[in-house]
Amino acid sequence: MTATPLSVLVVGGGYAGVLAAQRLAGDRTLAVTLVSDRDVLVHRVRLHETLARGTDATRDLRTLLHRRITRVLGRVARVSDRHRTVTLTDGRTLRFDALLVATGSRVRSAMSGVAENALWLADDRRAMEGFTRLRALSEGAVVTVVGGGLTAVEVAAEIAEAHPRLRVVMRAKTVLAGYSAPARRVVREALDVLGVTVDDRAVEAVREDCVVLDDGRVEPSAMTVWCGGFEARGVELEGDWTLDDRGAIAVDGGLRAKGCARVWVAGDVAAAPPGHEPTLRMACATAMPLGAHAADNLRRALRGDEARPFTFAYAGQCVSLGRRRGVMQFVDASDHPLDRVVTGRAGALVKAAIVGYVMGSLRLEGRVPGLYRWPAGVEATA
Ligand SMILES: Cc1cc2nc3c(=O)[nH]c(=O)nc-3n(C[C@H](O)[C@H](O)[C@H](O)COP(=O)(O)OP(=O)(O)OC[C@H]3O[C@@H](n4cnc5c(N)ncnc54)[C@H](O)[C@@H]3O)c2cc1C
Repeated sequence: MTATPLSVLVVGGGYAGVLAAQRLAGDRTLAVTLVSDRDVLVHRVRLHETLARGTDATRDLRTLLHRRITRVLGRVARVSDRHRTVTLTDGRTLRFDALLVATGSRVRSAMSGVAENALWLADDRRAMEGFTRLRALSEGAVVTVVGGGLTAVEVAAEIAEAHPRLRVVMRAKTVLAGYSAPARRVVREALDVLGVTVDDRAVEAVREDCVVLDDGRVEPSAMTVWCGGFEARGVELEGDWTLDDRGAIAVDGGLRAKGCARVWVAGDVAAAPPGHEPTLRMACATAMPLGAHAADNLRRALRGDEARPFTFAYAGQCVSLGRRRGVMQFVDASDHPLDRVVTGRAGALVKAAIVGYVMGSLRLEGRVPGLYRWPAGVEATA
């Protein structure tokens, strides 16, 4: 007689959740279910291309996922570690023997007028709406990009390259503050060549056709794209865990949720484990190793084996500057920038190769579960 498989739920169909589910699907003692509020994976690192060029950044989960994975379309509202159940917003309840939470992050927008008047890049539908609006703008119309981080730079460069008839203005106190001086210089030069104006006066409010600046001035803006940062989706879920001050679920060194016996956490929604503080960068480069490691430790726990501490080394950060230019900034294992950069056409090729590698890894893990590997380096401490 064969034993009944243990029920493992993975919540979230993004990079971390899909990689974890694929990895777990190779274990025939488990029945793996992926619960996600979308039936596609949104390839978020390509959303600026959707916005500027209308390209599809989604991948159908039906064809992406290993055939042993059951899909449930729905939004999880509550998790009970004690009762081993998740409750969906439509009232359905699912039972689990082990759970992996990978619900990602959402756009943070406390500023006045953003929700009503700005566009942002957290999902493909909003990005596609932006593409439709961009195409309808008249010659010389101003597109304001608020923010100076990776997303803002990629958005501003992509729009400027794809729509040279528009005026793109980036409003940011600093541009790529965490990058090295050589990387920042190359980025500023590229933005200049593409005709992007960088203005260091901060935006205080977004209106339908203008932005209000911190010096009180009002500047026209036919379309405003909000790139003011992301926050973890821990705040949206009720659970027996604790959250850090960024809304991320606190985890131990093996990525188990603190306060829970049967819940593991991966991706943007996971707080940095001890030894990796203050934060891990919200990135698919982080989400995938976290997803794979959380899946491995979840399996170890179900077999009664010891958890292994999460270990990971960053190698670089990539920025695309339109389709023809890019910057690859090398970093040390803890993500501190080094002066070494790859720029121009070579930088664009490196970035394109990494984006391709991400989807390739997710697909391959569905064919050969357990294949995905990542560099070891900084090790969690508890
Ligand atoms: C425009 C943009 C550009 C980026 N560029 C880069 C880059 O160049 N390099 C890089 O490394 N990173 C980049 N990032 C960051 C990267 O996309 C994120 O760090 C990554 O998506 C995190 O993966 P994740 O699996 O944790 O979450 P996500 O990819 O956000 O997936 C979360 C999943 O959970 C689902 N979900 C959420 N809540 C629930 C719920 N309650 N119930 C059920 N399902 C739920 C969502 O629908 C989604 O499917 C970029 C992000 C954006 C937005």
